[in-house]
Amino acid sequence: MSEPNTQSARAQMQISDEIAIQITAMNKWYGQFHVLRDINLTVNRGERIVIAGPSGSGKSTMIRCINRLEEHQSGQIIVDGIELTSDLKNIDKVRSEVGMVFQHFNLFPHLTILENLTLAPIWVRKVPKREAEETAMYFLEKVKIPEQAHKYPGQLSGGQQQRVAIARSLCMKPRIMLFDEPTSALDPEMIKEVLDTMIELAEEGMTMLCVTHEMGFAQAVANRVIFMADGQIVEQNNPHDFFNNPQSERTKQFLSQIL
Ligand code: ADP
Ligand code: MG
Repeated sequence: MSEPNTQSARAQMQISDEIAIQITAMNKWYGQFHVLRDINLTVNRGERIVIAGPSGSGKSTMIRCINRLEEHQSGQIIVDGIELTSDLKNIDKVRSEVGMVFQHFNLFPHLTILENLTLAPIWVRKVPKREAEETAMYFLEKVKIPEQAHKYPGQLSGGQQQRVAIARSLCMKPRIMLFDEPTSALDPEMIKEVLDTMIELAEEGMTMLCVTHEMGFAQAVANRVIFMADGQIVEQNNPHDFFNNPQSERTKQFLSQIL
């Protein structure tokens, strides 16, 4: 077991004192439904956080609030020093720093892989086409499918499409990556290739928040596991203590169901 320890020690060193995300006393409602209750969370740069919890506990809503795909109604969310309010300029700034990968890859089916990767850099970031294509190829190499550049999403496997989705996010040079169950829609044999891509990103020091049921990934990569239930952060700990010594009954019950 010395390898994981060495790994986590090495990973631990990459966490800086600089705050990437600060959420304070944040609440959100969908109509009358109080979906997020008094969320407090500080994420330092370089942290790799896994968010776990039963379905419907508010995991997606919480990470969607971080890039303002959802609005919170009270409390404060500060991302990279920028407070999320209704100020559209701030929202644009935050979205350019935060990449997001969803369960469903959301690639444009009528565009090639290369076009999917260069669309936002060219039209949103005003990057010259040649440069955007070079960057896209760099990240396709990184996710190990440069040979797919001129195909259409429908011609790729699910695992390949998800790696394209990750590469597409990286083309915008984010400082933080949010993943919402990126492997849940994949056939089992494709899960590993996507997790391997995420592990590489983690090793390079990317700040990551991942909603996932892949507890092996959590144990290998996360420096912190957050457990949510009923719209609250119930418990958080380093993976070793989270899995071996859960504190709350709710966490114990959840772990007994999934492990
Ligand atoms: P999780 O990702 O943990 O499964 P979600 O954040 O998706 O949970 O959902 C939390 C709760 O909020 C669930 O009860 C869900 O039904 C509800 N919910 C999610 N999105 C909406 C929405 N757009 N409008 C109303 N209720 C929603
Ligand atoms: Mg969800």
